[in-house]
Amino acid sequence: MRLSVVVPCYNEEAVIDRFDQQLRASLDRLGVGYELCYVDDGSADNTLTRLRALRVEHPANTRYLSFSRNFGKEAAMLAGLRAARGDAVVLMDADLQHRPELIGRMLELHRQGHDQVVAKRDRSCDKAVRGLLSRLYYRAVNRWVDVPLASGVGDFRLLSRAAVDALLALPESNRFSKGLFSWIGFDTVTFDCRDAEREGGGGSRWRFRSLLDYGMDGLISFNNRPLRLAIHTGLALAALAGAYAAWVVVTALTGGVSVPGYVTLVAIIAGLGGLQMLMLGLIGEYIGRIYYETKRRPHYLVKETGEVGAAPGTAAPGSGTGRGADPGTGAGTDPGTGTGAGPAAVPAEDLEP
Ligand code: UDP
Ligand code: MG
Repeated sequence: MRLSVVVPCYNEEAVIDRFDQQLRASLDRLGVGYELCYVDDGSADNTLTRLRALRVEHPANTRYLSFSRNFGKEAAMLAGLRAARGDAVVLMDADLQHRPELIGRMLELHRQGHDQVVAKRDRSCDKAVRGLLSRLYYRAVNRWVDVPLASGVGDFRLLSRAAVDALLALPESNRFSKGLFSWIGFDTVTFDCRDAEREGGGGSRWRFRSLLDYGMDGLISFNNRPLRLAIHTGLALAALAGAYAAWVVVTALTGGVSVPGYVTLVAIIAGLGGLQMLMLGLIGEYIGRIYYETKRRPHYLVKETGEVGAAPGTAAPGSGTGRGADPGTGAGTDPGTGTGAGPAAVPAEDLEP
């Protein structure tokens, strides 16, 4: 059995060497064949230089891809999954928050027949506010979405080849991995692990804004229940308006018409206006998603790859299109013959030997 480890890296020059050493030490102890697939997500620091050096140091089992700019962790994970050729793939962060020692446990559970082995962290290292917000978010979101999303369950997981192929066969360009992992199903097992502090400095690479967007994605990527909510709110308001109108008619019949009602009117108009804007925005979100899906832009652009066995630092411009991601490409192919060199624009998923 051969294991692929996919590692998205964004500005991780400070920690990447240490991570690589610890990871290799853990994997060597396990005695499995492995390849490391690093994905440089358009880092502004020397991460790419470090990756090139790592590949020169361990040419037999190190590969990397480098994006033309920062495309986000989702894109980096997708590129890594496409590149991975192992019979099982471990996804992990470069900041040592995902401890390489746990891979042994994951493999053990995988060998017992589980297709997805997921590490669940206890959030003890999250900043208090972020931890609280995350917990509240998951509690709220699970009422709304069709696929369950668990708090503390991140991207640190082992996927069997079948699960990876299932993920790669999903064509959407808006990828919310947490939901996708849950959506594909398969035999999933979760084990608890201690949270670790981020290393490599600079705090989480997520900006608050991108976390908010991520949260929104989680809410609406997987269901149309918010749209249902709009319909239900409309029905409830119509019922309320009917009752209010009846009450006004009855009081007018019994007590005559009284003119006051200015505050009520203004409040109702303003309230309804706000609600309409909210619902419009919601519909707009869905339309926006359709818009992006129809563009069919690639998820990322690759500016350089370093393959096993190729000359170091060969550049191969290419793109990671969402289409034609043939599940299973590269699975089981001989890992010793990759070239990764290509003068023309080659889709990233075609870079396999
Ligand atoms: N990352 C990435 N692209 C980004 C942001 C992050 O590839 O735009 C990588 C990052 O290098 C790390 C992993 O994703 O390996 C998780 O990032 P981080 O530790 O900052 O996130 P957190 O642990 O706070 O969820
Ligand atoms: Mg982290």
